[in-house]
Amino acid sequence: MVRLARDGRSIPEPTPVTAPFFKAAADGRFLLQTCPRDGAFFYPRARCPKCWRADWSWAEASGQGKIHAFTIDRIGHDPTQKELAPFVIALVDLEEGPRAVAQIVECEAEAVRAGMPVKAVFDLFQPADGGDPTPILRFRPAA
Ligand SMILES: [Zn+2]
Repeated sequence: MVRLARDGRSIPEPTPVTAPFFKAAADGRFLLQTCPRDGAFFYPRARCPKCWRADWSWAEASGQGKIHAFTIDRIGHDPTQKELAPFVIALVDLEEGPRAVAQIVECEAEAVRAGMPVKAVFDLFQPADGGDPTPILRFRPAA
């Protein structure tokens, strides 16, 4: 079942594995999972994507990263976000190593550049069916 925000966009439904990530994110804290053998990984999953073991732990990330690559959605491919266009979706290399995909906010689309330092932020989306707001990862230019 797809969960929707009040503006119609789909939002994730926390699971037992992802719930700690979303709970911390609601408080503005960015958690990554780390494997004692392989380092950090993103995004929340039950097993390490390299060694498939489940003895990972949560660690607070710096939230710092750099844009690896990006694209500008100029027409709003998702009808629920059409009025937000143009907006930027980027691959962000986190300081801790993993690569995240997220929207770039607080920045004109034309000003975004590969290599640009960014900082994680969370936007809260109210579910259409009620309940607690769901935090969604974004990045803004680093100060
Ligand atoms: Zn591992």
